[in-house]
Amino acid sequence: MKNIRTEYDAIVVGAGPNGLSAAITLQQAGLSVLLLEASTTVGGGMRTAELTLPHFYHDVCSAIHPLGVQSSVFKAMPLERFGLSFITPPVAAAHPFDDGSAALLKKSIVETAATLGKDAAAYQKLMEAFVPLWPAIEASFLGPLRYRPQMLQLSRFGFNAALPASLFAKIYFQNQAAKGLFAGMSAHSMLPFSGLTSSAIGLVLSVLGHLNGWPMPMGGSQRIANALAGYFESLGGEIQTNFPVTALNELPSAKAILFDVAPHQLLQIAGHRLSAVYRWQLERFVSGWGVYKIDYALHQAVPFVAPGCAEAGTVHLGGTMAEIAAAEQQVAQNKHPEKPFVLLAQQSRFDNTRAPAGKHTAWAYCHVPNGSTVDMTTPIENQIERFAPGFKDTIIEKHVMNTEAFARYNLNYLGGEINGGRQDITQLFTRPALRQSPYRTSARGLYLCSASTPPGGGVHGYCGYHAARQVLQDIFL
Ligand SMILES: Cc1cc2nc3c(=O)[nH]c(=O)nc-3n(C[C@H](O)[C@H](O)[C@H](O)COP(=O)(O)OP(=O)(O)OC[C@H]3O[C@@H](n4cnc5c(N)ncnc54)[C@H](O)[C@@H]3O)c2cc1C
Repeated sequence: MKNIRTEYDAIVVGAGPNGLSAAITLQQAGLSVLLLEASTTVGGGMRTAELTLPHFYHDVCSAIHPLGVQSSVFKAMPLERFGLSFITPPVAAAHPFDDGSAALLKKSIVETAATLGKDAAAYQKLMEAFVPLWPAIEASFLGPLRYRPQMLQLSRFGFNAALPASLFAKIYFQNQAAKGLFAGMSAHSMLPFSGLTSSAIGLVLSVLGHLNGWPMPMGGSQRIANALAGYFESLGGEIQTNFPVTALNELPSAKAILFDVAPHQLLQIAGHRLSAVYRWQLERFVSGWGVYKIDYALHQAVPFVAPGCAEAGTVHLGGTMAEIAAAEQQVAQNKHPEKPFVLLAQQSRFDNTRAPAGKHTAWAYCHVPNGSTVDMTTPIENQIERFAPGFKDTIIEKHVMNTEAFARYNLNYLGGEINGGRQDITQLFTRPALRQSPYRTSARGLYLCSASTPPGGGVHGYCGYHAARQVLQDIFL
């Protein structure tokens, strides 16, 4: 334990991307900031570890960072000075089909459209309209929902983002390639495709793919965490790991305390300071689906059949939009699909620091009901084998995490969920509760800065940044 002082201007509990970005924003403003982390290392959802065998480096949680690389919060920090560099695979995401073809998201809109058959022109027209809107999208939607002048530019984008993914695909696309590609993008919402706003993340991820690809940090997502922590300490910030906070009286005194935690934890730690109404709101906050994840050490790269998959950092496995919609619908109904939608990342193809020479890694997960204990190893491996025959013979070792393992790994991952709460229309902008500022709690000086605040899950630092700005405005300006 380092020498912690008895008093700070601000304390941040939890060193995930949002805790780190909040701590940096406050430290940049000249405050004295202490960052406390329960685990032995900083990072939260950004950690890399030898999960299977020595010298095979696996991303425990996040792997691919289109939002992180394009986030103006992270871009404003000199993170490359602290060892962070990104690798951008030539294909952001590949979506193979049973006939041996694949739809490919590439940086070039025209090259992407060329993989979409009859829907090429429709796709090109949509993306040429939406990609230039990114600065306005970021300013308007990736934070608390307030009127901003840029919103006027965004009415068409906003209307489409609010649509259920199945309806969006029906309106704009005719064939399997474009529908399948969009289904894979939209499945990142972890919502059924009949749900309002299930298109939103699909559109955002497509736009980001065309702006900057879907990069991965050289060496693994831990490098983002290390760079953020290094920058924070270079500004004079203090970090204490191995410090699980269970009650407010364990903390030094501070004018502001920011929690990079989920609402159930805030209730446990600070429930007695919160108003009855706010506690009632937090108790009703709805968790998202869980995940079942497998990390592989492999003799060789995953032997995908479809052209383009070998050049892709991410491969979406699920086949047609109808199949993926059915699988996601089953999860929404608390069932376990026999053919789940599988997200697969193949970092070692592009980053030779991840595995011994000639060997490879793969990172794969599917969605499951919150709290599920069902073994999804066979359904996941069958889906990979379906598009990469011979895959099962390449496995040297595997490491499996079900929802219980995720909940043990990070106190925030209640029931194995990964986005700080369901991200549907009722919780997208009002997470964790309907309030003037979603970052303020009902107790003066206590704030929430985790993915349970807008704009939600992902490694981007926006939640922490907006929460810290609220603290500066309320207490320190
Ligand atoms: C399997 C998986 C795959 C993912 N893939 C991607 C991806 O490819 N790209 C992407 O952008 N996002 C991905 N995500 C999502 C992303 O990791 C999260 O949305 C993001 O990390 C949330 O950041 P956060 O700072 O809000 O919380 P977290 O990352 O959860 O960090 C919270 C930190 O607080 C600590 N903490 C919690 N409670 C306490 C306490 N009481 N006292 C002290 N410390 C505490 C935790 O140990 C943790 O370090 C993935 C997540 C998972 C699990």
